[in-house]
Amino acid sequence: MDGFFQEGELVGVLTTQPLDRVLDYKAPEGGCFPGAFVEVPLGPRKVLGVVWGPGRGDWDYAKVRSVIRVLDAAPMREEMVEFLTRAGAYTLTPLSAMLRLATRSPGLGDPPAMRKIYRMGSGEVDRMTPAREKVLAVLEEFGGLSFTLKELAEQAGVGSSVVKGLVAQGAVREEDSPRDLPFAPLDPDLPGKALTDDQQRAVVALAGEGYATTLLKGVTGSGKTEVYLEAVADCLRRGRQALVLLPEIALTSEFLTRVEARFGAKPAEWHSGVTMTERRRVWRMVSEGGAQLVVGARSALFLPYRDLGLIVVDEEHDTSYKQEDGVMYNARDMAVLRASLCSARVVLASATPSLESWANAEAGKYKRVELTSRFGDAVLPEMRAIDMRSEDLPGARWVSPTLQGEIAKRIERGEQSLVFLNRRGYAPVTLCRACGFQIACEHCDARLVEHRFLKRLMCHQCGETKPIPTACPNCEAEDRLAPIGPGVERMGEELSELFPDARVVVLSSDLYGTSRELKAHIETIAEGGADIIIGTQLVAKGHNFPLLTLVGVIDADLGLQGSDLRAAERTFQLMRQVAGRAGRAEKPGLALMQTFQPEHPVIRAILDGDEEAFWKAEAAEREQAGMPPYGRMAGVVLSGPEVGPVFDLGNALARNDAALRRVGAQVYGPAPAPIARIRGRHRVRLLVKAPKGVALQNALAEWIRPVRLKGDLRLQIDIDPQSF
Ligand code: ADP
Ligand code: ZN
Repeated sequence: MDGFFQEGELVGVLTTQPLDRVLDYKAPEGGCFPGAFVEVPLGPRKVLGVVWGPGRGDWDYAKVRSVIRVLDAAPMREEMVEFLTRAGAYTLTPLSAMLRLATRSPGLGDPPAMRKIYRMGSGEVDRMTPAREKVLAVLEEFGGLSFTLKELAEQAGVGSSVVKGLVAQGAVREEDSPRDLPFAPLDPDLPGKALTDDQQRAVVALAGEGYATTLLKGVTGSGKTEVYLEAVADCLRRGRQALVLLPEIALTSEFLTRVEARFGAKPAEWHSGVTMTERRRVWRMVSEGGAQLVVGARSALFLPYRDLGLIVVDEEHDTSYKQEDGVMYNARDMAVLRASLCSARVVLASATPSLESWANAEAGKYKRVELTSRFGDAVLPEMRAIDMRSEDLPGARWVSPTLQGEIAKRIERGEQSLVFLNRRGYAPVTLCRACGFQIACEHCDARLVEHRFLKRLMCHQCGETKPIPTACPNCEAEDRLAPIGPGVERMGEELSELFPDARVVVLSSDLYGTSRELKAHIETIAEGGADIIIGTQLVAKGHNFPLLTLVGVIDADLGLQGSDLRAAERTFQLMRQVAGRAGRAEKPGLALMQTFQPEHPVIRAILDGDEEAFWKAEAAEREQAGMPPYGRMAGVVLSGPEVGPVFDLGNALARNDAALRRVGAQVYGPAPAPIARIRGRHRVRLLVKAPKGVALQNALAEWIRPVRLKGDLRLQIDIDPQSF
């Protein structure tokens, strides 16, 4: 931002507190730049804020308080201000909440003194004193830790001069804090793999300067990752930063290794598994240019890049890009917005694009590049349905004789089989055989799922767990509770019984304490340390298991139930993705889908592999119904502890819909939300459907403006809801 505010000049500060306006303060001693991160007084507290612009001056100057201090961080760039403003306007989110997304760095308020850290040194102490001894004892005791000056002095109970004395003698080492440690440079000119003609064409199409979004479509194993790594190389050569967004963060280790192989060093990482110290470093280095490439989860979009030139959204169709609580945004769409504001390129990579991106490419808004064949001799797996109506299966068994036979063949040949079931835990339902009672969560509209490995029942909505009871909570009958239906843990049991000598591994996030454990496990599997792998959605994404030649889908019909209009799209994507796991190397793969409705159009489309036909049919259906991406939708979710007032508010909103009708929008509902109760709160949803091209956000804002939320009622707006 241009300009500078002299000491005492009025500035408007946007804070992270939920206030609906920018507050006036006086610029501090030494003045400040627009965009500066500052600490300001608010009532009795000190809060974080950003200098948003000049003050309004509608307050008695004498009473205006001063900015306490300017924080040691580069001012927010104008492009970021614009991004937060536009993203907030799109999602109807207050700016303060947007600012919270952009200030998720633990070290933001650190004073410069924290730039140094202290560790045990190798020098001799010439004169030992009790105080010096205390300092050395602390360093001895916490050998692996590093301290700031203040922390070390406090821990030892001495003054900081004692520490400094030891530093002078070399007995304590003073180092730059890792937050100021740039990442090892990446070299885009290291020799990459020799690309195929198809891949080379894609690389050329992605390269270049200025904003553009390209849909990079290609079957699993066609080399999309190789191709977009070259787009990263192109961006780095231009001296700009690149961001690669991945959907499932437990899976990045394989990707980090590939980055290192291509560029000679590891990128910066940003996701929930990154330590606080490392986050300080990433945030700062991204801002100062000491990080060329960030690999991260959706929140990495809100980092303060100095010069972002490329955003890759891998598996762009993945639903986990949509943040479903707090600020409800879709990282894919926000990536396109952010890139358009900083003249960056966007690559949306997928084997099975979202209908939205497919339609944008059809309409010419996005460029489209396609990789049509798998790399090398790898061919797409053959896909077949197993008609479960004609399979002979005893009760409480889910592996059909046909699937069992194919697994047996793979074991004989030393190849791997993947058994896919998108259900965590042991059994989705626990039923009392005496009274018919099904154990449900007390706070949610959900049944409790037995997790035998954890020895607990778990609610998959709120995460609450409790011990597995021996008596029915309803009729108190002893030992009559029975697990109903399969989860991955139960499949593990069944397959171990069918193949007692096989190495059976269940891959589900709750079986591993840490993502590191999970990574280690995945590596073991890739090296051939398992014969049968049983997995949830977790395995559908991006792994490379070269020995895997068979995929068996236990319940291909699972995603087709329910009323969600996106169900077909989701099932199609998931099944194609899972099947793509088979036969990536030189061995041909086979994908078998157990289904009770092999003639269902979606199952047929998956088997035929005629994607264009599937998209066209889906698109036609949505277009006719005026649904996204051919029309606009928004959800309004109301919630509260009592169901009555929530519905009353919903009905009142539905009646007073003049603001919506003016722009040709229609409101549906109120109806119970897709999950009608979570954590004791009842949820009701109104859906708003509008023609494309109307100012939907303005209409929505006007519609809900009169709402006064009484008591514990809450209202949340969801633009472009995932399910409708
Ligand atoms: P996708 O991202 O489309 O699933 P990948 O980029 O992961 O595909 O490629 C699949 C496999 O083929 C990887 O092991 C990759 O290293 C390899 N591969 C792809 N293209 C080439 C190439 N041009 N030269 C060598 N190996 C390649
Ligand atoms: Zn619950």
